[in-house]
Amino acid sequence: MRRSGETMRLPPIEIALPPWVEDFAAAANQPLGSTQARMEFVIELARRNVDHDLGGPFGAAIFETESGRLIAPGVNRVVACNCSVLHAEIVAIMTAQRALGSFTLAAPGLPACELVTSTEPCAMCMGAVCWSGVRRVVCGARDEDARAIGFDEGPKAADWVRALEARGIAVVRDVCRDNAQAVLQYYVEKGGIIYNATSDVAQKPIEQRRRPCPHRKK
Ligand SMILES: [Zn+2]
Repeated sequence: MRRSGETMRLPPIEIALPPWVEDFAAAANQPLGSTQARMEFVIELARRNVDHDLGGPFGAAIFETESGRLIAPGVNRVVACNCSVLHAEIVAIMTAQRALGSFTLAAPGLPACELVTSTEPCAMCMGAVCWSGVRRVVCGARDEDARAIGFDEGPKAADWVRALEARGIAVVRDVCRDNAQAVLQYYVEKGGIIYNATSDVAQKPIEQRRRPCPHRKK
């Protein structure tokens, strides 16, 4: 907390994927031709995110739709980075846009891109998809699967699929849903944090949470 008279210092916002994600992505350097292979890739990202960091059990990636070339992976970094917006889809979209040097993945000259996500997008991510420039969204687990373990998916329109399709964004659901659901369950079994604003963990003082904020002064 800033004392009166002290100069306000705003922390820079730095978002970096953990090194293991880069290593995993580098190992999968062949284009993934099938939708199922791309889904298996993001489900594995989600599972490893739980294993490595007890991060939220969500993985996503941006691929070139035609070739299956990986442009950027993403994993959930909410608790690790103390940032509520760092869902896997957001991290993948931001990283892809930075990698391609464009604020939209639908810029002229870029190949059509798609978002593959281990769980259907929440209300925030669904909004972000609209501005991202992806032309297709491929989903594993359903949003009700995430809700079933306690995650809040936000006030998403019931007809979100039609809303995206009306914007020219195709939606494919239930790809490897069972495997994607299994990662959600794995997170629960490992004691992962359900970090919604209203969850028990979020209601605790910061000092009493399992993972202290690295930037917070003692
Ligand atoms: Zn989300």
